[in-house]
Amino acid sequence: MKKFKWKKVLLKISGESLMGDNAFGINPDIVKSFAKEISEVVTDGLQICIVVGGGNIYRGIFSTQNGMDRTTGDYMGMLATVMNSLAIQNALEQIGIETRVQSALPISAICEPYIKRRAIRHMEKGRVVIFAAGTGNPYFTTDTAAALRASEMNCEAIIKATLVDGVYSADPKKDKNAKKFNQLTYLEVLAKDLKIMDASSISLARENKIPIIVCSIVENKNLAKVLLGEGSYTIISD
Ligand code: UDP
Repeated sequence: MKKFKWKKVLLKISGESLMGDNAFGINPDIVKSFAKEISEVVTDGLQICIVVGGGNIYRGIFSTQNGMDRTTGDYMGMLATVMNSLAIQNALEQIGIETRVQSALPISAICEPYIKRRAIRHMEKGRVVIFAAGTGNPYFTTDTAAALRASEMNCEAIIKATLVDGVYSADPKKDKNAKKFNQLTYLEVLAKDLKIMDASSISLARENKIPIIVCSIVENKNLAKVLLGEGSYTIISD
């Protein structure tokens, strides 16, 4: 195994990052490139599980704007994460990486239900476990699901994949004076309201002492570099 700084990690991919330049849905080229990044570290022996969002397809909050009840919308959002999970599973398996999708809402025809011990076993066997349907509860987000599953799986870090190489004081694409933070504490993230992940997920990661690494997953082999402690990223810890 390579000398990874964190040997068992949870990767959080937002639904929106799967859209690429499209306005909606899943961009197959982006999914393929993410799968390639993940395969680089799996073949080097890293244990990895994934939580994927659903914002590229549906968010529960949309429902309230359309007169639908919030919980129905949230279940639709959770189903969107199942679609994204299947897309990532397919892309990984096409390049020879073994995977399992486990859903917090049982959908037995297409994936396993979430079973903690089984998920841990899959990871030990080198399979990538993709957790679908968030926490399985309305009013939550997939960020919270990421912190929850990372805690349950005893992951050493949460990797928050973004389109930029870390956390900035402002949007670096719009403001050239934006300053990059190399490290932040959980409390700074909450106090500065930096909106990297939602507040409940930051608090849960803090309680369980799991560092959050914010990095880009769009540059070639960057995920591997970051996990080796190289390259550019922001670390959030105590
Ligand atoms: N969702 C939920 N409970 C969860 C996780 C997700 O109800 O535990 C719903 C919620 O409506 C959310 C949608 O699924 O808006 C998609 O997830 P999220 O917004 O976290 O996706 P991302 O922003 O990462 O693409």
